[in-house]
Amino acid sequence: MSVIPQSVSYVVIGAGVHGLSTAWHLAMELAARGRGSGADIVVLDKSGPGAGASGIACGCVRNLYMTEPIHALLRHSVDVWMNDPVAFGFQQVGYVSVGEGNQIADYERVVASQNRVGYPSDLYVGGEAHAFLKSIWPDFKTDGIDVALHEHVSGYAGTRQAIRGLAQKCADHGVRVISGVAVTDYVVEGGRVTKVVTDRGEIACDLVIWGLGAWTPLHWAKLGRPERVACHYADGSTVEKDMWTYWRLLEGEVYDDRPYLTAGGMNPPVLHVEKMSTPVADANGRELRDYTYLYFKNGNERMDRPGLQGGTVPVKLGPRATVDPYGHANDAYQAETEFADYLCAGMAQTMGRFEGIRPNFRQRRNGGIGAFTPDNVPVFDWVLPNVYMIADSNHGFKMLGAGKLAAKYLMGDDVADLKPFAFGRYADGQTYGSTNSHSPWV
Ligand SMILES: Cc1cc2nc3c(=O)[nH]c(=O)nc-3n(C[C@H](O)[C@H](O)[C@H](O)COP(=O)(O)OP(=O)(O)OC[C@H]3O[C@@H](n4cnc5c(N)ncnc54)[C@H](O)[C@@H]3O)c2cc1C
Repeated sequence: MSVIPQSVSYVVIGAGVHGLSTAWHLAMELAARGRGSGADIVVLDKSGPGAGASGIACGCVRNLYMTEPIHALLRHSVDVWMNDPVAFGFQQVGYVSVGEGNQIADYERVVASQNRVGYPSDLYVGGEAHAFLKSIWPDFKTDGIDVALHEHVSGYAGTRQAIRGLAQKCADHGVRVISGVAVTDYVVEGGRVTKVVTDRGEIACDLVIWGLGAWTPLHWAKLGRPERVACHYADGSTVEKDMWTYWRLLEGEVYDDRPYLTAGGMNPPVLHVEKMSTPVADANGRELRDYTYLYFKNGNERMDRPGLQGGTVPVKLGPRATVDPYGHANDAYQAETEFADYLCAGMAQTMGRFEGIRPNFRQRRNGGIGAFTPDNVPVFDWVLPNVYMIADSNHGFKMLGAGKLAAKYLMGDDVADLKPFAFGRYADGQTYGSTNSHSPWV
């Protein structure tokens, strides 16, 4: 059993993507500035690296967001993924998103913003969209599709590989990652945390960083932060909302012994289809839902045989949920049979090759929950003057750049690309708005 230190400068709680990325980048920043090293940092996890959402994510790394500040964050994130794509298991296959006519204006805005921040993407409309899709997937059923967006530098990563790679980066830079230590409380003196209390003793520290994922609301409450937040919008309206809302993810896997490849024999881009006015029906014509929303890609490390992994819009749970046991271990939050029907029918409606695929759905646990912020956009900010929170609103497996930017910020740099994610936006009338989508990922 690892010995926990009695005192250390930086305590990172949670060894998911954010805790590990932040610790690794902080170690590099400390060393580069002659202000310390990884030996000043300890990462604590009550279970171990990847025990939370980071270990079960679908692994999609894309930049299709209506919230423009996220585009720059993803630019930084892909830089980190490409820092060592082999160690992180990152497949830079690109990302293609398709929609109907009501989304063309949104997509135009997204493409312009992505390219402004150096995230190369192209837009195809009408017949050009059809030709583009068929050039990659000749059996793509393009009826009803009016727009396609192609992000060149996006892709996906294997979650176990990514976590292993990040943990290795931490170790390479002298950061101690200690498993099996739960932070149970905080000693707060003069408004600052002076010690974290763990089930293995107390650790005195200067700064605490939360990479707590779905457990963030529990610690938010421990430090007496409010359950409800007045969210002020740019149009002058105010809506009081729960600070945290849990959603249950719907994802699964489908075996396919025929390799899933492009016309050119390559690993295809991650595909996202959102047709807001096109229902999904099964092979018998039974309507499963009145809109199409799905994403899928090659199954990667998760599969024991060739196949694909995909998902759809998550299910809202509310301000309370049971986080322990987490993920596949929690009976309450596993995807139901209807999801398997929907995913397979949606895939069959999208490409001819998937017709009749339903019997190949892989029966296994896939569930996982996440804690979303009031506007479903990440909050990266101080909770107390020496407690920094990385709360990605449960869409941040892709956001490895958050830890890179946070490390610079914690060194005292002015980091412009982090500012849009401050908690103060709710009070300042900068709450992000709703979106033209069925999904909370805005
Ligand atoms: C099923 C699913 C699919 C997803 N797919 C994608 C995707 O394709 N792309 C994408 O970008 N995002 C995806 N996400 C979201 C993404 O996985 C998360 O946003 C991200 O992994 C959160 O990382 P984290 O580091 O904040 O938290 P986590 O990975 O949840 O890590 C938190 C850690 O904190 C530890 N911990 C908790 N309490 C304590 C304590 N008291 N003391 C010590 N340690 C503690 C836990 O053991 C855990 O390891 C998905 C999420 C789910 C659930």
